[in-house]
Amino acid sequence: MIKYNGSCHCGNVSFQFKHDEIKSGLRCNCSICARKGAIMTDFVIPPDKLQYQLKEENSLGLYEFDTKVAHHYFCKNCGIFPFLQTMRMPEHYRINLGCIDGLETDELEVSVFDGKSL
Ligand SMILES: [Zn+2]
Repeated sequence: MIKYNGSCHCGNVSFQFKHDEIKSGLRCNCSICARKGAIMTDFVIPPDKLQYQLKEENSLGLYEFDTKVAHHYFCKNCGIFPFLQTMRMPEHYRINLGCIDGLETDELEVSVFDGKSL
């Protein structure tokens, strides 16, 4: 297991989790993921396995729409979405791989999930 560290752009939101080496990622073509353009983890992290810290209270915003099952978290200062709670596995997190320290997203094998058709 590797300990991964990450943060939003301004550093108000930072997080840690442990996982085997990340070699692949996931894009989704649903209405919000297409707009974010982020490559996310292709695995989910249980709620008790993701630690995160906020430099300033209330710096984590929450965006929900439609069924409101998925929770899209963003930094209220820099606007980056570091992680979300998925629709397919409620309360479980997917991480924005671009937010992880030292991870080159260009080197990952990226698959596409057809969220648009759900
Ligand atoms: Zn930020």
